[in-house]
Amino acid sequence: MGRIEIVEGDITRMAVDAIVNAANRTLLGGGGVDGAIHRAAGPGLRTECAALGGCETGDAKITGGHRLPARHVIHTVGPVWHGGSRSEDAALASCYRRSLEVAEEHGLRTIAFPAISTGAYGFPADRAARIAVREVRRFLAEDHGIEVVYLVAFGEQARLAYERALAEASGR
Ligand code: ADP
Repeated sequence: MGRIEIVEGDITRMAVDAIVNAANRTLLGGGGVDGAIHRAAGPGLRTECAALGGCETGDAKITGGHRLPARHVIHTVGPVWHGGSRSEDAALASCYRRSLEVAEEHGLRTIAFPAISTGAYGFPADRAARIAVREVRRFLAEDHGIEVVYLVAFGEQARLAYERALAEASGR
């Protein structure tokens, strides 16, 4: 069974089979991690994304990694936080599940996720971390070909949120 690793740092530097992008529905680039990924990948990524016709919230689409050290980018669209009553939890869970399904369909073994929706989209970090850990654990328990899922924390606060969520999920 694959394992989860929490790492702190810049996801654009990770040499994995795929990094996940917290994109918006146009897939044409934005700020935050999306902007960083497009800057590091170069203009070929935007050209490839433009042909995909956007992506629904909770879904995921794959492209090449272009100039990134990662071989692929899986673009997923997280929910905007509106207080929790608009199915934000379910949409965020769907982002993790769909991204992992797409990775599996392409035979990928190492995947790195940013903390989807916890930047500009305003999803509370601890709540998002619990959903991320739960969905990834569920997926890995089904024993696909995925070997490692990195949860990439951009800063100490995000890392601590993941560590709490992982400790909670492992019953510690
Ligand atoms: P969203 O619109 O889904 O909230 P953001 O890009 O604004 O997306 O933020 C998502 C998360 O990505 C935030 O926790 C932010 O700190 C983090 N982030 C921003 N840049 C990077 C990066 N280079 N590597 C990893 N995580 C990043």
